[in-house]
Amino acid sequence: MTTRLIIAALCSLFSAGAAALEIQGEWKQGAVLLGRVEPGSQVEFLQRQVRVAEDGRFVVGLGRDAEPEAVLKVTPPNGETEKHRFDVVQREYHIQRVEGVPQQTVTPDPKQVERSRKEAALAWQARQRDSEYTFFSQSFEWPLTGRISGVYGSQRYFNGEPRAPHYGVDIAAPTGTPARAPADGVVTLVHDDMFFSGGTLIMDHGHGLSSTFIHLHKILVEEGDYVEQGQVVAQVGATGRATGPHLDWRMNWFDQRVDPTLLVGPMPE
Ligand SMILES: [Zn+2]
Repeated sequence: MTTRLIIAALCSLFSAGAAALEIQGEWKQGAVLLGRVEPGSQVEFLQRQVRVAEDGRFVVGLGRDAEPEAVLKVTPPNGETEKHRFDVVQREYHIQRVEGVPQQTVTPDPKQVERSRKEAALAWQARQRDSEYTFFSQSFEWPLTGRISGVYGSQRYFNGEPRAPHYGVDIAAPTGTPARAPADGVVTLVHDDMFFSGGTLIMDHGHGLSSTFIHLHKILVEEGDYVEQGQVVAQVGATGRATGPHLDWRMNWFDQRVDPTLLVGPMPE
């Protein structure tokens, strides 16, 4: 007991000169957190050196299956590295189990496998950009309004075998419905026809945060274009492997899949 008290006292002594760390957002699976440190500080998260803007702002993201504890390392310009620990809220996702599905005996076409692998690499590359834009700190808006027909994190099991989780939010809308940029960004990928995702558009909001729209009917911008929040960038469609027209909006912080709905709040009526 006494030892614990001494350790506690020492800790508070050491943290007395601690650099300021401000965090905006909830530590929760799928969340995007906005941070601020003393300008010139170094920040490390998930083994990544995090870009810090000149004014000290930065952003990090937590994936669908983020660990229960997150550690953020901050090194002030003239100080020692501090480890900040946060409890991460563990979410429950919509899981659907389907039994008695006939076993697939068809081997996938190797050409299709090769094609989708190349396309996935293009998208991966676009999401690795670590640009200096700070659009990530804007207040995000829904690209369009409509019925939500698919949610982040949901997963299907066929005969006990898990399929890839769904990482986007699906908004049902007729083909041709305008889809708007949820925040300012720079277009980093335009692809008219990917095998799985059809018409695909990726926008970079800076510091590794990006939005991806898929199954698009038409894309109205080009790679390298700067887009403003609210600008119509594409039309909803059902291209690629889609059962009906909808916008599938995904967001990433580098390779961490984050939940767009945590940034925009409830769908307006
Ligand atoms: Zn979807």
